[in-house]
Amino acid sequence: MVDLQTQYQHIKSEIDRGIEEVINSAAFIKGPKVAEFQAHLEQYTGAKHVIPVGNGTDALQIALMALGLERGDEVITPTFTFIATAEVVAWLGLTPVVVDVDWDTMNISVEGIRKAITPKTKAIVPVHLFGQCANMEAIMAIAKEHHLYVVEDACQAIGAKYTFADGTTKQAGTIGDIGCTSFFPSKNLGCYGDGGAIFTNDDALAERMKAVANHGCFVRYHHDFVGVNSRLDSIQAAILDAKLPHLNDYIAARQRAAAYYDKAFAGNEHILVPEHELHSTHVYHQYTLRLVGVDRDKVKEELAKRDIPAMIYYPIPLHLQKAYQDPRYKAGDFPVAERLMNCVLSLPMHTELDNEQLEYITRNVLEAIG
Ligand SMILES: *Cc1c(COP(=O)(O)O)cnc(C)c1O
Repeated sequence: MVDLQTQYQHIKSEIDRGIEEVINSAAFIKGPKVAEFQAHLEQYTGAKHVIPVGNGTDALQIALMALGLERGDEVITPTFTFIATAEVVAWLGLTPVVVDVDWDTMNISVEGIRKAITPKTKAIVPVHLFGQCANMEAIMAIAKEHHLYVVEDACQAIGAKYTFADGTTKQAGTIGDIGCTSFFPSKNLGCYGDGGAIFTNDDALAERMKAVANHGCFVRYHHDFVGVNSRLDSIQAAILDAKLPHLNDYIAARQRAAAYYDKAFAGNEHILVPEHELHSTHVYHQYTLRLVGVDRDKVKEELAKRDIPAMIYYPIPLHLQKAYQDPRYKAGDFPVAERLMNCVLSLPMHTELDNEQLEYITRNVLEAIG
């Protein structure tokens, strides 16, 4: 699905130099590399504050911890996403309220959000699924109307740009009160281990989140509340700082591969290619087809026989997960997500796909579909 080895070979000297610097300085935790990367990521994203943390799940958890929510407060999130989004909500004793997604973009349904709002709703956590922003114009308007926080799960969408009706453009993760991203190795900006970051333009929230991530202290050894320990280590920061200058090229490479796929599959009645949201660029963390009128699992098996990896993101929506069983929800409640779980298929998507590979993949997908 990804080819991190080839990518490394192209930037080996830059990466190795960064890692060596950290080892020579022995500043493994909170070293200057972390501060440098943080400053560079602030420049890149336009976020006033970037707070590096241990991983994307921590980023979401710390964001929610900083909002001062109380047990039983409701947090709206899409049912079709990676589990981390709802997991942190549940773990903090908040109530995840799941809503369906749109068939075209696979992103959270704005209608669904509207219907899910109750007096207990405190926050919306939209997920920019597969690398394309959710409908942030509408989501921000709903949040304003109902005085809700917006915490963007931008773990799959770093570098995606959203353009508002008034012409302003902002990056994924810098639109809501808080944005969260992950540097998991296969993410669009990935390190060689775990990593994550939080974005915000709000000074007070930034201070609070730094304290949450640092054992709940503003002043060393003075613990004002119960926090956590979550840090991006210096070696990962050095790797990310070496990769960040390449991020725009990496996004362009993914978009080129996606355009190749789009063209090859155009007009096939069984294949729906990813739909573009008018207002968002797509950075293709995943290139996810919806297959109609064919047996998706058979197609996947057939591709595996031809050495083509293909993955199902995601096979089970939140409301059907064993751990998230909730008397409020039952099978059939979120028909789009339940349809998607049976028809999505993600194809290999990374920065190193060449035309020969793309030709092989698309030819075999078309054959497997028949
Ligand atoms: C990857 C991902 C996360 C979690 O990131 P980790 O760094 O693995 O903790 C959260 N949400 C979404 C949508 C993701 O894709």
